[in-house]
Amino acid sequence: MCPHTPTCPDASAPDREAARTVVSHPEQGWSLLCNGIVVFEDTGELLPGGGTIAPHRPTDIRDRPAAHPAGGPLAPAVSPVPAA
Ligand SMILES: [Zn+2]
Repeated sequence: MCPHTPTCPDASAPDREAARTVVSHPEQGWSLLCNGIVVFEDTGELLPGGGTIAPHRPTDIRDRPAAHPAGGPLAPAVSPVPAA
């Protein structure tokens, strides 16, 4: 499925965000990666299976201190979208 060399990391891989961007809509605040993940500008993610990942990197560090240091554990997002 992935035409790139080397192939992009799978959607379940720890480095999934390293996949190539295939569709980018910065004006709408999201991008689609080669592995099917939709990444939002607040660093939240929508996974191919319908799961979600909450924003996990501060995007407004100039206005307030980071609540979660890089690499810190985060609670899983509660998805309003039922898994199909
Ligand atoms: Zn790819």
